[in-house]
Amino acid sequence: MEDEPTLICNFCSKPICGGTAVIRAGDGVAHVRCLVEQTGLRALELQDQAARTVERAGRTVAEARKLARQARRRPGRFLVSARITAIDHAHRVLTLGPLTIRLADEIALDGLRVGMRVTIVGMATTGEQIGFQLMLDQDAPDGPPQATPQPLPASPPLAP
Ligand SMILES: [Zn+2]
Repeated sequence: MEDEPTLICNFCSKPICGGTAVIRAGDGVAHVRCLVEQTGLRALELQDQAARTVERAGRTVAEARKLARQARRRPGRFLVSARITAIDHAHRVLTLGPLTIRLADEIALDGLRVGMRVTIVGMATTGEQIGFQLMLDQDAPDGPPQATPQPLPASPPLAP
């Protein structure tokens, strides 16, 4: 008995006395309860990590859903062909019957007169419609608005 080397627990560094449950741990041995405790802590750590990962993933999904909702709320492009009923030069706003369209800065208002028929391609944003392309339809006869607008070229990707 005296020759037997004292075994030291790998985890708590206390000698392992006879009668206690012992388990091999790496190069040495350990109390079973110490191993369980360590393993339990590691499991908790992993659980915590997993929880954080799930939380991050959840936030990413929520963010993606928010962007999708915003994109849906952002109405797409419009194309309208109608007569100008009013021009607000100061605010660069054209009224076409019930529509109010603010024109992008690149569009010159000089040649526009009330009564002219125009086709405007634009983008509806929250609260207003911005026209960024305007074509004069001076030769178009009076009549109902063009029923079949031409398909629009692909939109550039929208900034988030
Ligand atoms: Zn121990």
